[in-house]
Amino acid sequence: MRPLRFAIIGAGMAGILSAIKLAEAGFTDFTIYEKGDRFGGTWRENTYPGLSCDVPSQLYCYSFAPNPEWSHVFSPGQEIRTYFEVVAREFGIEKSTRFDDEVVSCEFSDGKWHLETHKGHRDEVDVVIAATGVLHQPKFPDIDGIDTFEGACFHSARWDHSVNLGGARVGIIGTGSTAVQITSALVERVAHLSLFQRTAQWIMPQQNPEFTEEQKEQFRAHPEQLEQMHDSLSILFGGFAKAVIDAQSSEIQMIEDACRTNLEENVHDPVLRERLRPDYRAACKRLIISPDFYDAIQQPNADLVTSGIERMESGGVRTEDGVLHELDVLVLATGFKVDAFMRPMTVVGRDGLTLNEEWAERPNAYLSISIPDFPNFFMLNGPNGPVGNFSLIDVAEQQFAYIMQLIDLLRSGENREVSATHVAMDTFEAERVGAARKTIWTTGCSSWYLDDRGVPAVWPFPFDRFRSEMASPQLESYDVR
Ligand code: NAP
Repeated sequence: MRPLRFAIIGAGMAGILSAIKLAEAGFTDFTIYEKGDRFGGTWRENTYPGLSCDVPSQLYCYSFAPNPEWSHVFSPGQEIRTYFEVVAREFGIEKSTRFDDEVVSCEFSDGKWHLETHKGHRDEVDVVIAATGVLHQPKFPDIDGIDTFEGACFHSARWDHSVNLGGARVGIIGTGSTAVQITSALVERVAHLSLFQRTAQWIMPQQNPEFTEEQKEQFRAHPEQLEQMHDSLSILFGGFAKAVIDAQSSEIQMIEDACRTNLEENVHDPVLRERLRPDYRAACKRLIISPDFYDAIQQPNADLVTSGIERMESGGVRTEDGVLHELDVLVLATGFKVDAFMRPMTVVGRDGLTLNEEWAERPNAYLSISIPDFPNFFMLNGPNGPVGNFSLIDVAEQQFAYIMQLIDLLRSGENREVSATHVAMDTFEAERVGAARKTIWTTGCSSWYLDDRGVPAVWPFPFDRFRSEMASPQLESYDVR
């Protein structure tokens, strides 16, 4: 057996998972590098009011660490962050983590990855696991005069908790999952709420009941029930995956019907109803799940603003119809740079090839995991993977089990370098693009799923195919040296 040293980049869900699984496989020589000051990844960065997960709690947790204590069917963000911290502590991951130490460069030479952090710390490892997340780098809107605004202005993923919202006039730009959650949470706390909508969204109504003390007691006494719930929810979500990849499926029709009924029955003013009605099919954009958004936007202190934003002024937002929407606080719920992945970190693979060169057109990787000529560098939740309305934990667990089989090739001592071949990546990508063009995501809307060609940059096959691909690597798809 050859001893291997690992760097895991990121101490969010996927980084914690990687450390636990490496330790379980008998590896002890690994470090997690984390730019933040605590565990939790996206759940550390997003702390906005109303933050919760729209994947059910029993699925949005590690299969090996079921949690009987979830308060709700869909967990609040704070609880999820605490869950990751508790799991990391229980599995002894803290001692292997360097917080506040961002990896700025990662270069492959002489069979090793050479890392450098912003503090100047250097490391030399055999394998890099990039667990850097997907929706990670905030996207700021390019609005004239944004710097002239005299109130507080921040991105939803950089919530400024020092700002007092009680009695404030608050504007929110965006109508994605984030803006919808913030709207529902804030409307009763603020004096006035203006929601700046560029594109209307379909809303799937979904209640979020609390688990009773009796239910939690039952879960504590019978942890196997949690496992069963995890597995059956995973199958249920596989069914959702089938619906979105076939724009003609009866399942997608049912989702559309539920969203339309929600709009017809729960928005009472016919004018407002039409302003909230999307002109594209449900689930074309990432489906939004909310039990109370329509209720919130119909409150007397809430305004849906559909005139385009012209500019910002010291007192608020001026829209194209000439109206000045006076604000004390403006929240930019404008999403993320979805093609960044581990960048801005510099990554240099074999023979000086940089990641920016390799991804000059757009990010790509064989099965989202491995990039040709970047040996022993593996990504969790990398490009074109199953994101959106899935449990990314379920996804990452399967990906890591696959990566572990590649690591075993190195561990055996027979091989020093493993990365996907160009042929395997290109063949897979051609098939993926063909399938992606048939999905609901291409039926006439813009969304963060779409790449520069308008092709959804996500997994377009049934989830079962993902499972079977992840079961074991096809070694002919790898350049093993
Ligand atoms: P998003 O879905 O990308 O939405 C961004 C919103 O900002 C869109 O409504 C967009 O309008 C608007 N926008 C962007 N730039 C604008 C501009 N210059 N002027 C006006 N409007 C502008 O971002 P997100 O809501 O943060 O959600 C991102 C993803 O995070 C979700 O799709 C989901 O996968 C994940 N998420 C999950 C949960 C959960 O519960 N699991 C919760 C929150 C987020 P257009 O639609 O017109 O482009």
